[in-house]
Amino acid sequence: MKTLIINAQVFDGSGSPRFPADVLIDGQRIAKIAAYIERPDDPQVRVIDAAGATLMPGMVDGHTHLGLGSTVEHRSPRTEPEEEQALIISHNARVMLDHGFTSIYSGGNRRPRVEVALRKAIGEGWMPGPRLRAASWEVSAGTMHAPAATLKPTSPADHIGADDREPITEQVRQFVHDMADIGVDVVKMPITGESALVEYTSRVMEFKDEEIAAAGEVARERGIWLTAHAHSSEGMQMAVRHGFRVIYHATYMDDETIEMVANAPSPIFIAPSPGSLWMMGNMDQPPSPGMEVEEAIHSLREVVPKMLKAGLLVVPGSDYGFGFNPIGLNAKDLELFVDWFGMTPCQALRAATELGGQLMGMGDELGLVRQGFLADLLLVEGDPTENVAILQDPKRLSMIMQDGKLYKLAAHRSTSSSKAEVA
Ligand SMILES: [Zn+2]
Repeated sequence: MKTLIINAQVFDGSGSPRFPADVLIDGQRIAKIAAYIERPDDPQVRVIDAAGATLMPGMVDGHTHLGLGSTVEHRSPRTEPEEEQALIISHNARVMLDHGFTSIYSGGNRRPRVEVALRKAIGEGWMPGPRLRAASWEVSAGTMHAPAATLKPTSPADHIGADDREPITEQVRQFVHDMADIGVDVVKMPITGESALVEYTSRVMEFKDEEIAAAGEVARERGIWLTAHAHSSEGMQMAVRHGFRVIYHATYMDDETIEMVANAPSPIFIAPSPGSLWMMGNMDQPPSPGMEVEEAIHSLREVVPKMLKAGLLVVPGSDYGFGFNPIGLNAKDLELFVDWFGMTPCQALRAATELGGQLMGMGDELGLVRQGFLADLLLVEGDPTENVAILQDPKRLSMIMQDGKLYKLAAHRSTSSSKAEVA
């Protein structure tokens, strides 16, 4: 099946301004981009008149928790039995796609294998959802072999940091092996604590250096990626030393750590996750001081511009999936990238597209509107290069295409005689 999109304003993902063009999609891929492409005399070619709307790559989220369960359509109590968690995760994947996210690099889950199953279902084409880099379940040192569903917020007094316990190096090694056996793409390690869950712990170390070193060794041996949850520079430096590919939060990244990330032997992506902080700062119930929300916002707004200046790869994704921060609001990050971190709208869009493709490990075929690239495309009513906030309104997405297949096409953009097939 071929699709010809005419009269589009193309934002190609590279950060350059929009340009007027027609785009031809053949099968899964973008076949041609030109100022004018001859209208085909073939009913087999679907023609979509963009009428000046913006054609851009599908967005990529780098830090969402499909398994946490809450979306803009459904709030999860996070106590569901296993079977319901599996339904919720597929619901969540569909909501992501409805909001223009055609790929996710997952931030961790409540069940070990559920994302692997979801990745398979989406890949086989019978379940709508983003391309998925499937993550392991979430563990902290104290819960290495407990079902992650039993994870509960504890008080600071009950919290056991890395310095308060014996090494568990062999358990960490085994955990990464177990996750590799299951087939995850990414193992997530919370190297530091999290004040939003356990007050005043964001800068407490959860793992010892030898444990994280073991995780790095096994991940390299097994060919899987590592993601760190880390707020402190000590935690981030540990991640960099042991070959982690992604760092979440990075709230208190100092100049030395920025330098270290910039000079790392292979690219490291940073998801500073402003969205969850913004949501926490705007809840009906104000966060308690121990959640350190104000402090984290203040620091992040100071350090992310420095990261950008040093050329670090900053991508969107903010722990979406909690009740206060449901899946579907993900594009809020782009607005905060502009308002808090001083990116231009084009730079924020590039973070969600070109850098997103690289984050997925598919930088040579995903994240750009470019000949030969996979046709994950959005048609946006309006100009997100002027105002990225419009991407938060799914009604403005008049077309969502994934892998060359139409997932959504608004009636007013349907110009071909044949009705669009809906994946
Ligand atoms: Zn997270």
